[in-house]
Amino acid sequence: MKPFVHQALASRVVFGAGSLQQLEREIEALGATRALVLSTPEQADAARRVAELLGARAAGIFPRAVMHVPIETAREARDEARRLGADCAVAIGGGSTTGLGKAIALDSGLPIIAIPTTYAGSEMTSIYGLTEAGVKKTGRDLRVLPRTVIYDPELSLSLPIGLTITSGLNAIAHAAEGLYAFDGNPIVSLMAEEGIRAIAEALPRLTAAPTDLDARGDALYGAWLCGSVLGAVAMGLHHKLCHTLGGSFNLPHAEVHTVVLPHALAYNAAHAPEAMRRIARALGSESAAAGLFVLAQRLGVPVALKDIGMPADGLDRAADLAVQTPYPNPRPLERAAIRELLQHAFDGVRPP
Ligand code: NAD
Repeated sequence: MKPFVHQALASRVVFGAGSLQQLEREIEALGATRALVLSTPEQADAARRVAELLGARAAGIFPRAVMHVPIETAREARDEARRLGADCAVAIGGGSTTGLGKAIALDSGLPIIAIPTTYAGSEMTSIYGLTEAGVKKTGRDLRVLPRTVIYDPELSLSLPIGLTITSGLNAIAHAAEGLYAFDGNPIVSLMAEEGIRAIAEALPRLTAAPTDLDARGDALYGAWLCGSVLGAVAMGLHHKLCHTLGGSFNLPHAEVHTVVLPHALAYNAAHAPEAMRRIARALGSESAAAGLFVLAQRLGVPVALKDIGMPADGLDRAADLAVQTPYPNPRPLERAAIRELLQHAFDGVRPP
């Protein structure tokens, strides 16, 4: 076995249907008394229900989280937390809302309790993102890691089926790249393979019955594992491409991951055979790349960049950006091969 270093991140996870009811106790356990509840405008009702549940422990709600955390929104939320005398923040929603919580924590050190309602996995990482003048900057800081995460599958029952599938595949992307990360280790690989297996097994059940609570629980369990992988090791070509495509062409986050992942895996396949074997085993398929492509197709979500708003004349620039700053990846970054990968992803060609 190769030597390795594993840095466990300290967060507390409360998992189970109905676990939202434990929120007040969890706030108390942090020694906090007044929570600012965060959500997107679309989930303002959920934020109001949380505030009602908390009664006097709710300082107020800030239902204005948006994708990619614009600095202006972060400043507004920080000011609101100060004005209301909040001593913690509760983020109920997907990666956008968790991201806003992280922006508050980065500035103020306020403890964050995350209540994830998608499978994006941000709640298990110390990675934050902030967008200023159209440029998204990301970084790692332990202050932004949510102290407590409440995973309640009942709260994901309302997640539209399209986003359920693409968000699940977004989670699988973290685990897939974790299996070939240069700083990976056996514990992370265990979590990654089990995370892929749990999600790949739950998604077809959710397509058949989106309110199957058991399947929602299995998907959320997988998302927890995949998010933990994202928090523990470095991501490679796939995440860089998605960051570039999402940021530069304003494409929807989870859908970009869904479309690009099979092609990024095909690019890396010959340079990471053990990772491919484990991904394929978790999917119950012969090939990691083709297995994911067929899964997405079978579940009825987009498999081509041209179908999610990518302009054909942006592919050259995307390839340039992908090789601009070097980073570790199993296969060296080759401009021509990445351009070809992007073309295949654009057209929705099934990889081998
Ligand atoms: P999102 O948070 O933007 O949510 C998409 C939409 O779905 C929103 O309108 C949201 O309110 C709604 N929604 C969420 N859960 C719902 C539910 N259960 N029922 C009904 N509607 C619901 O999407 P996302 O994919 O979770 O997050 C994407 C963002 O998170 C991106 O900005 C991405 O960069 C970031 N992210 C960050 C990390 C990290 O570690 N920092 C990890 C993953 C994602």
